[in-house]
Amino acid sequence: MKNILVTGGAGYIGSHVAKKLAEAGFNVIVLDNLSKGHREAVLKGKLIVGDLADVDLLDRIMKEEGIEGVIHLAADSLVGESMEKPGKYYRNNVANGINLLEAMVNNGVEYIVFSSTAAVYGEPEEIPITESHPANPENTYGESKLFFEKILKRYDEIYNLRYVSLRYFNAAGADLSGQIGEAHDPETHLIPIVLEKALGVREKLYIFGADYPTKDGTCIRDYIHVEDLADAHILAIEALAAGLESRIYNLGNGEGYSVREVIEAAEEVTGKKIEAEIAGRRAGDPAVLVASSEKIKKELGWKPLYPDLKTIIESAWRWHKGGGFDGND
Ligand code: UDP
Repeated sequence: MKNILVTGGAGYIGSHVAKKLAEAGFNVIVLDNLSKGHREAVLKGKLIVGDLADVDLLDRIMKEEGIEGVIHLAADSLVGESMEKPGKYYRNNVANGINLLEAMVNNGVEYIVFSSTAAVYGEPEEIPITESHPANPENTYGESKLFFEKILKRYDEIYNLRYVSLRYFNAAGADLSGQIGEAHDPETHLIPIVLEKALGVREKLYIFGADYPTKDGTCIRDYIHVEDLADAHILAIEALAAGLESRIYNLGNGEGYSVREVIEAAEEVTGKKIEAEIAGRRAGDPAVLVASSEKIKKELGWKPLYPDLKTIIESAWRWHKGGGFDGND
């Protein structure tokens, strides 16, 4: 059984990855500082509460847990915040990530799956976006992830540290068992916000910009079920363990939905009228982001099992109606 370190494994995507990884027979060690993660989200494996800034801790974990591979999701991930506090993003997503790579190299850990983002592309020149599309991030978050991808490339050249970088489009939905789901505080993501409005626990829902050059003026995104996203991590770590060379994959459904379409789908799922107000654009938001995920389908045999937007929203709705987690950790 392989020992895999999952950084950020108490967070939204990380907790789904850790669960699936354990189910696939890996020994899972989660490292999370619980700044945004939840203790209850770690259903399987061991949780170590700590930070990527702690170089000694990273070294100890690699040694004591006999880590063979890493899935690195610990990061700050809010586009809006990244345009207000760029230093936080460069420090946590780039500088502290280097601590992790150094600990890996020093302890002979050979491969890593990195959680990257569609935000590396910036305003797309063509849709759907393939991995060879130029990367010109419009926000600090995307730029911090692109920097780290470049660092990974260098570490591969110099130390043979192999990586798979997964460029996520919009992760959404909740684990179908209903045990874990999306719970950020404050919440900034569209689908949970729309559902909170439907539940009556949120007073206002704002559409950030209705003057984009899209069919209804609102931003278009490619929403992918968090379970499908998690599956790709398992495929990637298995492929790396079997010797796969470094590469980058997009992860999305290949279908774009506007903010208005998401609200309409949520109205159908919840059976409630969901009122929204038009507000100004959010800094750093490209008009359209839709993925081509043909490469990972072809090379690793990945296939989204829940591509339908309503199925995604239904799983999130079950989770939100159930009340989510109790506290912040
Ligand atoms: N959005 C919105 N109102 C909200 C939250 C998000 O109109 O309260 C929009 C946002 O501008 C973007 C889309 O919904 O176009 C998805 O945003 P989210 O924050 O969920 O994900 P991101 O695309 O930033 O990763």
